[in-house]
Amino acid sequence: MEELKLDNIYKQMGISDDVYAFGAKMEKQLEERFKEIDETAEYNQLKVLKAMQDSKVSEACLLGTTGYGYNDIGRDTLEKVYADIFHTEDALVRPQITCGTHALALALMSNLRPGDELLSPVGKPYDTLEEVIGIRDSKGSLKEYGISYKQVDLLPDGGFDFENIKKAINEKTKLVTIQRSKGYQTRPTLSVTRIGELIKFIKEIKPDVICMVDNCYGEFVERIEPTDVGADMVVGSLIKNPGGGLAPIGGYIAGKKECVENAAYRLTSPGLGKEVGASLGILSAFYQGLFLAPTVTAGALKGAIFAANLYEKLGYKVVPNGTESRHDIIQAVEFQNDKALIAFCQGIQAAAPVDSFVSPEPWAMPGYDSDVIMAAGAFVSGSSIELSADGPVKPPYAVYFQGGLTWQHAKFGILKTVQSLVDSGILSDNL
Ligand SMILES: *Cc1c(COP(=O)(O)O)cnc(C)c1O
Repeated sequence: MEELKLDNIYKQMGISDDVYAFGAKMEKQLEERFKEIDETAEYNQLKVLKAMQDSKVSEACLLGTTGYGYNDIGRDTLEKVYADIFHTEDALVRPQITCGTHALALALMSNLRPGDELLSPVGKPYDTLEEVIGIRDSKGSLKEYGISYKQVDLLPDGGFDFENIKKAINEKTKLVTIQRSKGYQTRPTLSVTRIGELIKFIKEIKPDVICMVDNCYGEFVERIEPTDVGADMVVGSLIKNPGGGLAPIGGYIAGKKECVENAAYRLTSPGLGKEVGASLGILSAFYQGLFLAPTVTAGALKGAIFAANLYEKLGYKVVPNGTESRHDIIQAVEFQNDKALIAFCQGIQAAAPVDSFVSPEPWAMPGYDSDVIMAAGAFVSGSSIELSADGPVKPPYAVYFQGGLTWQHAKFGILKTVQSLVDSGILSDNL
């Protein structure tokens, strides 16, 4: 049989010659950057491997416990591995932490007490945290428990507003929350180095304040993590970067012993803390996912850069832009109209290994203040380290694209979005 050429298989998968050629040309131009990403992945692969070896991960660690989960060697060892990777005193890594929002809520609620104040010096936090904090009223919010909140927005150029941050810190300020990733905004993502500068400034004013970083989407993008530059706690979701696509649930908190202990007492119960919490049969996916996370993150990162460059070339505003350095795996594209946003998401859906035959529609999601369209055809429901896209259906009609368990799949997905825009008449096929 004659060997099939690459462009032939793309054609079978619905990608036109023009769209394929447009992508191929761009990929060629990105060779140098992709090489740098591979080197970071190599560094982080060895960092993870070393942590596993140093903690003596054994076959027994891959099994699980039931019931109370006393003496769960796999769970306890995994928490040591996480603490090692993040260079922290301790970590809490649990399937009982249901998602990223839960992990963040847990870290906040367990480390703050009535009368304390929470400060965000980097503007509005991720949408779902508005109800956790009580920015939007909700049952059980921090506000209901008498914990107040202050926010200092970033300056128009994306810089820190040091003057107002200094003014906002007072005797009640107990915890500072810093979101690394842009989330559903078009501000820049913070590099670990910039997070370090901010923490240094804050600690000079108030040394005992707890600095927590929402690390969602940032893990393994750089060679250092926020805890390497002074953060007391990093918090994230296992169905994003550190789960490597294999973790089917879970969240983590890594940090100072006392912070982690507070969180454990809140997650289970005062007195019980980390000692309970059966891992059931889930740990081999947590270990193997973590092992794959550096290369999976690298694939997703290449996809984000590829998308930025293609859509920039097509004349759209992209955040980050095509050449900026990267600190998370999210790519935003501003379409300025709902039709293009929807067509993009339909392209991502059509590229999925699961549910490729369905078409996503905007709907009202809990925790969000406008209709949202989400495209995902994932092995793990809602996993956003897998190829996925979502966007609130409101100006500037920005889509937030992320993930791809392999670079090859991310590339195909992005080409499929371009094809979808061409097929809906939004772009001409003369690319
Ligand atoms: C995803 C995300 C969250 C919330 O995580 P969920 O798992 O969706 O609850 C919080 N902060 C940021 C920056 C995120 O990207």
